[in-house]
Amino acid sequence: MNKKQNLETICVQAGWQPKKGEPRVLPIYQSTTFKYETSEQMADLFDLKASGYFYTRLQNPTNDAVAAKIAALEGGVGAMLTSSGQAATFYAIFNICSAGDHVVSASAIYGGTFNLFAVTLKKLGIEFTFVDQEASAEEIRKAFRPNTKALFAESISNPAMNLLDIEKFSSIAKSEGVPLIVDNTFPTPINFRPLEWGADIVIHSTTKYMDGHAISLGGAIVDGGKFDWDKYADKYPGLTQPDDSYHGLTYTKTFGKTAFLTKAVVQLMRDLGSAQSPQNAFLLNVGLETLHLRVPRHCENAQRVAEYLESRPEIAWVNYPGLKGNKYYELAQKQMPNGTCGVMTFGLKGGRDVSVKFMDNLNFISIVTHVADARTCVLHPASHTHRQLSDEQLVAAGVAPDLIRLSVGIENVNDIIADIEQALAKI
Ligand code: PLP
Repeated sequence: MNKKQNLETICVQAGWQPKKGEPRVLPIYQSTTFKYETSEQMADLFDLKASGYFYTRLQNPTNDAVAAKIAALEGGVGAMLTSSGQAATFYAIFNICSAGDHVVSASAIYGGTFNLFAVTLKKLGIEFTFVDQEASAEEIRKAFRPNTKALFAESISNPAMNLLDIEKFSSIAKSEGVPLIVDNTFPTPINFRPLEWGADIVIHSTTKYMDGHAISLGGAIVDGGKFDWDKYADKYPGLTQPDDSYHGLTYTKTFGKTAFLTKAVVQLMRDLGSAQSPQNAFLLNVGLETLHLRVPRHCENAQRVAEYLESRPEIAWVNYPGLKGNKYYELAQKQMPNGTCGVMTFGLKGGRDVSVKFMDNLNFISIVTHVADARTCVLHPASHTHRQLSDEQLVAAGVAPDLIRLSVGIENVNDIIADIEQALAKI
């Protein structure tokens, strides 16, 4: 009875469990507010003495059902939804950091996250040191300071496609006494569950594979429930000391394993309000129901496309962890034996101009600022997301001027290859 269900079943069944006569399908609770019978009932909710819904900025039944599904997929003790992946990253950091604090982060991360860390959070007084995730544990440890509060990395980095050596990172986090926060957007819990490898907090841009159809922006934070905040009570006063805004309640004492998550909901979501709309949560849930079918298909197609690209004389290089010659091949086999994701990068001989021409020649493979949805798409960072940088600056940022990011969808792989083939023929 209590046996943990398999991922496929969790994708379809977890979260919404209707009682007698209730809708079989998760309803959209399109209501900002919820009704109570006495003033005292409402007061108890505000004091966190009772649990229940009162205002959708804090919690909503549709969102909670979807968050519970994501928590079950990742193997966490609980999860919350946010309005975007950016909001999830911000909340995960800001929940344990304030002005004067410091975080160590891998440098190969999504550009939006890098900007959030290096520019916006810096303005709030939170400083980041970016480390090369390939460096030795000894080297990475040198970046830690007495005021370091977290270690951050992406399980597969966007767009560099670096795989995180999570055992190295989790052992560093443990020995330094900080939580390891992992952005697991690209592999999704279908291919990788960071909490099982020693991560403490997992975040997602659900906008990507989880939604899977490019229809709803969203994010999620999953609490692993294992980090011992009280052991480092002085470092995490926000969790281990009384919160004046809740009559002196202490999160670790009152909420135990879900202290981190509860604080993020009742304090950060209350004050900052980046809630996901119930409509988007509903759409996300529909996406999650087929995540276990889509992700393997993305990976299968990507493997075929990567092998095809590698075989073509026009292609200078291909970076996909499923290719035998890739520097992450062995690590991918160990950490993600069922596959990584559908995203890869490659370059064409002839550089930037040829890359642009190739992309303009594509038919159904479209040029979009997105990755990780059902439709195959491409982006040329040097012309789009990083267009303000010179070729030298691009190289310094780890983005080659000829780099094309290809997100392989779930169409028939022969059609994807045929589209690439006809575009190559015209360059
Ligand atoms: N994390 C990763 C790995 C991403 O690729 C992205 C967006 O591309 C984000 C976070 C930010 O997510 P969102 O666009 O949903 O705010």
